[in-house]
Amino acid sequence: MVVSKAWTLRQHFQGFPKASDFHLREETLPQPKNGQVLLEAVFLSVDPYMRPYSQTMMKEGDVMIGSQVAKVIQSYNPSFPVGCHVVSDCGWRSHWVCDGAELTPLLPDWPQDIPLSLALGAIGMPGLTALYGLEEVCEIKKGETLLVNAAAGAVGSVVGQIAKIKGCRVVGCAGTDTKVSYLKELGFDQVFNYKTVTSLEESLREAAPHGYDCYFENVGGKFSSVVMPQMREYGRIAVCGSISMYNDTTSQTGPYVHTYMIFKQLRMEGFLCARWKHKHQQSLRRLMAWMTEGKLRCNEHITSGFNNMPAAFMGMLQGDNIGKAVVKNTASEIMEAAEDRGTR
Ligand code: NAP
Repeated sequence: MVVSKAWTLRQHFQGFPKASDFHLREETLPQPKNGQVLLEAVFLSVDPYMRPYSQTMMKEGDVMIGSQVAKVIQSYNPSFPVGCHVVSDCGWRSHWVCDGAELTPLLPDWPQDIPLSLALGAIGMPGLTALYGLEEVCEIKKGETLLVNAAAGAVGSVVGQIAKIKGCRVVGCAGTDTKVSYLKELGFDQVFNYKTVTSLEESLREAAPHGYDCYFENVGGKFSSVVMPQMREYGRIAVCGSISMYNDTTSQTGPYVHTYMIFKQLRMEGFLCARWKHKHQQSLRRLMAWMTEGKLRCNEHITSGFNNMPAAFMGMLQGDNIGKAVVKNTASEIMEAAEDRGTR
């Protein structure tokens, strides 16, 4: 018998999530059958999308959606032998039984000195999002000026570094002075703390007096309306996220962007990383090459303990993280689960 722990959505979030919105329950999983594997979570991802998707994709009582790097601990599927690591979208679960169709193997030649957790970050969905937003949506070119907000986060920190690799001038905004220092270390040209500046408008203008060719939008809301007048003609805006709006209980209203879009002839396009699924493997290899060459650096904000998933999620939403927010399943939790199964 396999007993898994799972975090469920006890009740839909009203405004900012709170601890009592989550419930930790035990699930008895079936024994894996032919073609199936038993997974054990090693690293679990907490991401902003979980907040809006909880409203649109989940009902109360459902297990929280999400990805994890898991280890195969029992296998009846030769493609996924015991001991191999995979990315699984099985949600906030400590264990899961599934067949191979739902699993993504890690890059086959994953270097030993690169943490596997990066498969949830720079060498995973957030890294791919950064790459596609810049190349496919912004079609960014050498010499252009880019603005990215939530710049010290999982996506933003990769966006800025790829834009530097491409020979662009990069302006980034983040919510603490420590994040600002980190972004300077990464090679961003201009960085400021959007929470402490006296005027966002003036800080943006000082950082790029000639305006912005590309805007990688992670935040939305008021921030976005301040940026719009500072876009250059034919500017491109990749609408990746709008985290400043995810916890709203009433919708934000204007100012509206239409006149700037028209007279500056801007292109604004929302996108989801999955649109370019067919390119994922080659894109992950490109990200990994930049990483091993030392051109792409990645910080992780690791919370210890599966039991702390809700705290890690709420911490990420309020800006605790520099780089990717990840939860590590601890050795004691893994041992405890094994003792329950009677396998160790
Ligand atoms: P992240 O940046 O690592 O973490 C979220 C960050 O958002 C926090 O650290 C915080 O940083 C910032 N933030 C929170 N509330 C804010 C507010 N009210 N105003 C401004 N900043 C705020 O998260 P991520 O995974 O890289 O995601 C970044 C954005 O990309 C999110 O909007 C997410 O939904 C989006 N995304 C989209 C796709 C896609 O396929 N389209 C894929 C992945 C992510 P500060 O300290 O700087 O405030």
